[in-house]
Amino acid sequence: MNSPNPPNSPESAVICSAKGCRAAAVWVLAWNNPKLHTPDRRKTWLACEEHREHLSQFLGMRGFLKDVVTLAEWEASAADR
Ligand SMILES: [Zn+2]
Repeated sequence: MNSPNPPNSPESAVICSAKGCRAAAVWVLAWNNPKLHTPDRRKTWLACEEHREHLSQFLGMRGFLKDVVTLAEWEASAADR
């Protein structure tokens, strides 16, 4: 099953994933929950400048966080695939 709102989807607004935040996302946090996902699976959260640290700490504490890249980098690497 695909993620319903991937950051590189052309029609979707690219908004921070933090609860209640409507700011434009600048960062992509790639994560994986080993209890739910195969090791090569990547879920993504979007974060504005303000929430990047909060969201990455949340994922990092659980050992889920794999990668934090700028949205531009993420889209460039996604276009490569
Ligand atoms: Zn935010």
